[in-house]
Amino acid sequence: MAVKLFSAVVYLPIIVICMIISQIYFERYWKSFQGNKLANCGLMTAITITYLIQEFCLLQLSLFNINEVAFMQVVSVTMLFRDNKNKLWWWLLVITPPFVNIVEVLMGLESINTWWVWFCESAIFLVLCGGLACWKKGSIRIRYALAILCLSLIEIISLGIENNFNVVNVAAGTLGLLVILVFEGQRYESEIKNERKIKLLQKESERDDLTGLLNYRALSQEISALTEKKEIHNIVIGALDIDHFKRINDTYGHFVGNEVLNYFSTIFRKEIHKSFPDHGYVYRFGGEEFSIVVSNHSIEEVYTLLQSIEKLFNEKPIKTKEGIEITISFSCSLTNHMNGEMLDLTLKRADKMLYSVKNNGRGWIVTDHHHKPEKAVNN
Ligand code: GH3
Ligand code: MG
Ligand code: MG
Repeated sequence: MAVKLFSAVVYLPIIVICMIISQIYFERYWKSFQGNKLANCGLMTAITITYLIQEFCLLQLSLFNINEVAFMQVVSVTMLFRDNKNKLWWWLLVITPPFVNIVEVLMGLESINTWWVWFCESAIFLVLCGGLACWKKGSIRIRYALAILCLSLIEIISLGIENNFNVVNVAAGTLGLLVILVFEGQRYESEIKNERKIKLLQKESERDDLTGLLNYRALSQEISALTEKKEIHNIVIGALDIDHFKRINDTYGHFVGNEVLNYFSTIFRKEIHKSFPDHGYVYRFGGEEFSIVVSNHSIEEVYTLLQSIEKLFNEKPIKTKEGIEITISFSCSLTNHMNGEMLDLTLKRADKMLYSVKNNGRGWIVTDHHHKPEKAVNN
């Protein structure tokens, strides 16, 4: 009894510490060390040592308290199902059974003659667990539960083969596995909920409240993401400003102004997305200023579309909820984002070009190739 109590008091905290270290720190560093071979090697050693300590303590606890190693491979299976990208946990799945069995032989609890049972046990489990881990169509919770179920079934069968079957041990082991399953399920669910919340907050931080358009933060992130993609060979950036917007506010009030901004944003986004699906984005810079990013399409294509949108707004007035009809026009500049150029520099160039439109009649589009106003609208 005293030995059991002692092992529980000593080993449990060590196991918990090892699990926390491996789950929190190793996973994080594993991701940030990618590409650095030396750091990866050091990390691998640290992970292996921590893992062996953890498994040794689990083993001691299992053997002295329930006389059975019921939790062998549970940790590595759990980690394997948590992390799809890093294949590290496969190695831990392979290492654990021989390690556990060698310790059992050294302690005189297992006979070396039954090596084929350990071997078959591990091989069958590896194949089943591997299949479940790779079968991406099923829900992760069901796959994980099946893997744990396989683990306990294989354990029970091997105990039967070795004539070691003891109802109390099997019940204790199965209960332990069920507890792990329930806790892991709960933890997984809360992790998913947190991830969803973070994604939602990230999305919200990239959107403008009034129009729902993406904001400047999203624009700079999109540009750096685009420049890193090999398949992107051309990026057109546009600066756009609604003409005489202050007049609308002054004449009809701020709320009507907001309605116009909303209407303009909806139509503009729809047209850009329709013509450049997956390659065209609209951002609100603030006020009545917008930005466009179109990748893998020529400046001419974007110019032609913007001209047709300009025509649309010129010909069809916006009708507000109160029935007020307002015709708007916008000024725009389009320029190519040069390879390796800082985003701010491209935006400054676009802004400068936009000023030339504002100073030359408004309501037209300037590009790196089109400098003359096609038509000047109301000044
Ligand atoms: P220009 O043709 O030279 O661009 O003239 P403009 O009147 O459009 O430009 P100006 O910069 O003088 O005025 C922009 C106005 O936009 C001033 C500001 O009150 C208004 N504004 C900025 N943000 C909002 C907004 O969120 N809602 C509304 N309704 N108005 C806004
Ligand atoms: Mg304006
Ligand atoms: Mg402005």
